[in-house]
Amino acid sequence: PSILRHADAEVWRLITAERTRQRDGLELIASENFASAAVREALGSCLTNKYSEGLPGARYYGGNEHIDAIERLCQSRALALFGLSPDEWGVNVQPYSGSPANFAAYTALLQPHDRVMGLDLPSGGHLTHGYVSPRGRRVSATSIYFESMAYEVDGATGRIDYDGLEARARMFRPKLIIAGASAYPRDWDYARMRAIADSVGALLLNDMAHISGLAAARECADPFEHSHVVTSTTHKSLRGPRAGMIFYRKQFEQAVNDAVFPALQGGPHNHQIGALAVALREAATPEFRQYIRAVKENAAALASALMRRGYTICTGGTDNHLVLWDLRPQGLTGSKMEKLCEAVHISLNKNAVHGDQSAAVPGGVRLGTPAMTTRGLTTRDFEEVAAFLDEAAQLAQSIQERSQLVYIYIVYRYSLLARMRYHLSLNW
Ligand code: PLP
Repeated sequence: PSILRHADAEVWRLITAERTRQRDGLELIASENFASAAVREALGSCLTNKYSEGLPGARYYGGNEHIDAIERLCQSRALALFGLSPDEWGVNVQPYSGSPANFAAYTALLQPHDRVMGLDLPSGGHLTHGYVSPRGRRVSATSIYFESMAYEVDGATGRIDYDGLEARARMFRPKLIIAGASAYPRDWDYARMRAIADSVGALLLNDMAHISGLAAARECADPFEHSHVVTSTTHKSLRGPRAGMIFYRKQFEQAVNDAVFPALQGGPHNHQIGALAVALREAATPEFRQYIRAVKENAAALASALMRRGYTICTGGTDNHLVLWDLRPQGLTGSKMEKLCEAVHISLNKNAVHGDQSAAVPGGVRLGTPAMTTRGLTTRDFEEVAAFLDEAAQLAQSIQERSQLVYIYIVYRYSLLARMRYHLSLNW
């Protein structure tokens, strides 16, 4: 029996509709996942009621004995999960999400107007890595308050252009180089990035938001070994609640903690911290390791199935949980593909691919396997997902007029949904 249903039928109805949408659709957004019922129970708990500015043992409010224990548990689970020694590393688990975590890390490591160098947005980087639009507009607070010059992927291979990064770093002399991305399907050469950072006197920050689940399962290059600071979201491949974390080498402890509070945030969101502690425990299990291996196998299967059907996959495959699909050879835009897929309950997102003429017209889409792997889909299922996407791409190519579009949407939506239900009936 739902209490909310009686207290507020309007919100209850909307949540129920969203739940149905999540249950019946094919969720291919690479940054999304399905948190467990245990995580969601902690998230919806009484922890949301408590104010606890400060750190465990040093709060500005009374009544924090249990909150202190929860935050300490969360911190120690986070360090243990990534194999970090508490003598060398610490972690702040209070950032509200990934963007505030990044801004807090910059606030800790930099002075206003210091120079940063992150992967360009059209190359797969994130807004918070210092994005400046092609017209020079400082879109993100990280480019408003810091000076930014991006590095890029190599146009021919789609892989990070480390030589270009080195040349730009020599010229621009950033104080901070940022590794990590939102739409990069390959693993990273962090040793090379650290060598470049050292050669220009920069620090190296790794934003492992997308791959933190892979890092926890030791299924990607170690984001910590060569980094001074590592930031992360907790709700992507890590499958936790929405939140952020900042891992720091011990010499940055005071600076990072001060940047989170009091510089940027107020009271910690204790319900998020409690839920994160639960997710970190889940991620330390052999089952989670198996899950992450399946996420990678499914992404590889999806990429090869699409390539077998003649499509262009950036970098010719994937090392991780995501696939970047270049639709320009089909004469399609990412937006058209996203719209058509949305009409048939396939969630994915348009994404820039390197060499796009305009940032406003992204030439590809990003596909991710973490969410549907949580729902139990296997490599064989992802072959079928590739077949759905193939159908959608063919349909999008054939659609010219709006009236035709509407008609096809309706017919296609119901035929596809009927077939998909078979796959999605389990694991919810
Ligand atoms: N960093 C990376 C690499 C991301 O992909 C994202 C989100 O997509 C973020 C940071 C920001 O996280 P949030 O949306 O939680 O602020």
